[in-house]
Formats: sequence, structure tokens, C-alpha cells
Amino acid sequence: MDDSKKETYSDRFAPLEMNTDAFRELGHELVDRVADFLAALPERPVTTGESPSKIRSLLGESPLPQQGTDAKTLLKETANLLFDHSLFNGHPKFWGYITSSAAPIGILGDFLAATINPNVGAWNLSPVASEIERQTIKWIAEMVGYPVDCGGLLVSGGNMANFVGFLAGRYAKAGWDVRAIGQSSPEAKRLRVYASAETHTWINKAADMFGLGTDSIRWIQTDADLRMETDLLKAQIDNDLKSGDKPFLVVGTAGSVSTGVTDPLVEIAKICREYDLWFHADGAYGALAACLPDAESDLKALSEADSVALDPHKWLYAPLEAGCTLVRDSKILRDTFSYQPPYYKFDEVGGEPTIVYNEYGPQNSRGFRALKVWLALKHVGRSGYERMISDDIKLAERLYQLADQHPELQAFSHHLSITTFRYVPEALKQTHEERETYLNQLNTEILTRLQEGGEAFVSNAMIAGKYVLRACIVNFRTNLRDIEALPEIIVRIGRIVHAELQPNH
Ligand SMILES: *Cc1c(COP(=O)(O)O)cnc(C)c1O
Repeated sequence: MDDSKKETYSDRFAPLEMNTDAFRELGHELVDRVADFLAALPERPVTTGESPSKIRSLLGESPLPQQGTDAKTLLKETANLLFDHSLFNGHPKFWGYITSSAAPIGILGDFLAATINPNVGAWNLSPVASEIERQTIKWIAEMVGYPVDCGGLLVSGGNMANFVGFLAGRYAKAGWDVRAIGQSSPEAKRLRVYASAETHTWINKAADMFGLGTDSIRWIQTDADLRMETDLLKAQIDNDLKSGDKPFLVVGTAGSVSTGVTDPLVEIAKICREYDLWFHADGAYGALAACLPDAESDLKALSEADSVALDPHKWLYAPLEAGCTLVRDSKILRDTFSYQPPYYKFDEVGGEPTIVYNEYGPQNSRGFRALKVWLALKHVGRSGYERMISDDIKLAERLYQLADQHPELQAFSHHLSITTFRYVPEALKQTHEERETYLNQLNTEILTRLQEGGEAFVSNAMIAGKYVLRACIVNFRTNLRDIEALPEIIVRIGRIVHAELQPNH
């Protein structure tokens, strides 16, 4: 046959295919560039602070290309684009929100995971990968002091991990077949969820998405330390029972997103037992600190929860995304999500039962998230994690002391690895009402300039109406010098902004 008549699929070399030598060369080049990038990271700004329109203009507005581009050029240009125009949460001076540096072994792990590309929705599609996920879950449970025979799985992050716990609780405690009947039948009472006012917004999304409505949430007030007031919790449950509602879930936070404080989990566990409610611990940030021998008893009490959410992409330093849910009774977890349709036959291999992860959570096809987490756990072990988490906490404590001692800074709080503080010009040290409005304005502007300037990166919290700066150290690259530099950076920006704002004050 004449070559021009040959179908493109007869001796197929598809456009996306890459020959071995080319793959090897491009891969080596990229790894070299990544290694150089990581080495130079401390010398770079945290971010370039470029505007959205500037960033968009880098990509241009051309339509979808009709023809392809040479892979070598493409990878080189794309690496430049990302290295030169990103915000680097792997930078030693990145302390915003709760976002960790990504462990190098996790970077390599994601590469390896994508190579095998197992579908961890079912064991027979991912034999080793499913077992690696199972072992990862067990090790994480062991690390935080949770029963190792629990159920659990990896999901995309803290929100999803909390949703899984929420749904398991609803299934277990609604008191009717909520999976079939839903919430609109005559049998269905008004479900009630209890959470402190400091709870992360996942609870709003959960109540909304799963059909309860956000009005079903009972927001329990917090004390001066922003911990849930358990007397008020009990009183609210009693009230709701009296009105014929159906309380089913109490959320206790282990390491709040604003200040890192942990709710009184010992007491919450007791109340949940007394009223037969599901106790869900949101430990997305703080749960992993329960591995420390000196962890406070309320943090350790997450071991009593019916379900726990925690984020390997926070304090296990896994590259995004990796969240994790642990559920004490693995049967409940499975019964919350499982369907066994006729087009799947996954339950056993060679006469042995298998773990079929699509039956344990909302996802069907699932990526190999576990590998990057498992590799890091094996790479540094429990002792490595204890040291990194404890160092993060000590650095946050040091920052609190530095802020407290500085004549132009006011320290607010230090819990786990979160420290809050604000800039207060010396002339405004005396308390009076209207200065608070000004200090909020001043610190808001300081944060904007800091975040755009790229010298260091923190975020903010509101504490009793006061706008404060907030550093959260989940960063194994941060050292003492990085922390010691922050007060002077803030004060330098603070003086400039204060001088600018004063004329109109
Ligand atoms: C980070 C966090 C979440 C949300 O987790 P994502 O991984 O961002 O989805 C929920 N709750 C708490 C306490 C958190 O710290």
C-alpha cells in the first residue's frame, strides 16, 4: 500500500506519544530546573505581586492552537512562566493561611504516581496503590492516637474530609433511612448541627449542599479564648430536643483556622455520648500536632471522635491536594456511601475481600494521592514529623515573644503554630475607642503592602473586632532568622503607611 493511503492508526505514533530518548531528555532537564529553583527559592521574593491583568497578558488571548508546539520549548517556557510569576508557598517566609511547603519527596511522588496512574476507586484497578492508601490511613491514625482499625480515605482537602465526616454522622444518627428518604418526608425531623462561631466555612457548605440548609446550624458562642462554650452547647441541645428537632452532630475544632485554638474536645466528647450525637473533630490543621508527646489533652481527645478530618497537605507537608477522613467504625463509613451497581464487580480477588475505595467516599475514579503522603511518612518517620511540627510551634511561640517585646507591635495570641499580632504606632499606645477603627484600617493596608511586596507573606484574622496580622507556620523551611526578620519588616511598612494615612486621620 502506498504510504499516503495508510491510516494514521495502522503503525500508530500518536501526537501525544513521546519517544523514550526524548522523554528522558526532557525529564532530566525539567528535574535539573526544579532542583535549581528549589535551591534559589530563599533568595527570591515570595511573590511578584503582579496584577491579574498583567498575569493574564502573559498568556495572551489567542484561541485554542490548531497545531501543537515542540515539547522541549513548551516545557522550558512553561517552567519560566511558573518560576517567574507564581506565589511560592514553599518559600521559607510564607506564613499565610494554612498552606505548607511541599516536601521534595512528595514532588517526586506525584511524578511517580502519575506514571502508574492507578485508579484507586477499586482494588483490582490499583492493587498496590489501594494497599498503600490503606497503610497510609492506618499510619495517620496511629500518628494522631486514633484507633488503627478505623475506616478512612484520602480526599482532596479539609473541606471534603469534613463533608465525609458530616455525611457519616448524618447517616448514623438521623434515626431514619436518610439515604433513601432524604429530609423532606413526614418521618424526617429538623436535623440540627452544633458548631462554634469559629468553625471553618465548610460547615456552611455542608449544611447547604446536603440539603439541611444553613439555618439548621446552631452557632455556639465562644469564650474569651474563642473556644466553644459547652454549657451553651448543652442548653441549646436541650432546647432543640424540647422543640422536637433532631440534634445529630457536634463539630469540635482541633486547631481553628483563625487562631489555632482547640475546642474543649474532652467535654464535647462527653456531651455527645450523653445525648447520643455524632462527634466530628475538624482537625484539618491541628490534628497532626496530636502526635507530640506534650500535646494538650483537648487535642488528644480527638481520639474520642466518631470521625476526624485532617489535612496531609497542611502538617504532613504533602503537595496539594490531600485531605483525610478517619471514621471510628469503618462499616458506618462504607454504609454511608456504598452502592454496588451491576456494572461493577470489585468486591473480591482470588476469594479474598478487597478494599474498594469508591464505596467509602463520594469519588468514583480516584487518583493516587496516597503515594506522596506515604513516601513522606516513610522518608522521615514519626520522629521526623514530631521534630518538624514541634519546631513550627516553637518558631510561632518565638514570634509571639518578639511581637510582645516590640514597642510598636501588640501580640494577641499563640496557639499551635499560629501567632497573631498587629502594628500599633507608639503615639497611639493609649487606648481609646476611635483608634480601633484607625488601627484596623492601618493594619489592613500593612497586610496589602506586605502581601504584594513579596518580602514575607502572612494573612489576617479578626479577633473581637480587631484586625490582626496572622502568621501560621506549617513550613519546614522556616528557620529562626526568617522569623526574627518579620517584626522589622512589619514595623518598617507600618511606619510608612501610618505616615501616609495620618493627614486624613
Ligand atoms: C484548612 C481548614 C479547612 C479547609 O481545608 P481545605 O484543605 O482548605 O479544604 C477546614 N477546617 C479547618 C480547621 C482548616 O484549618
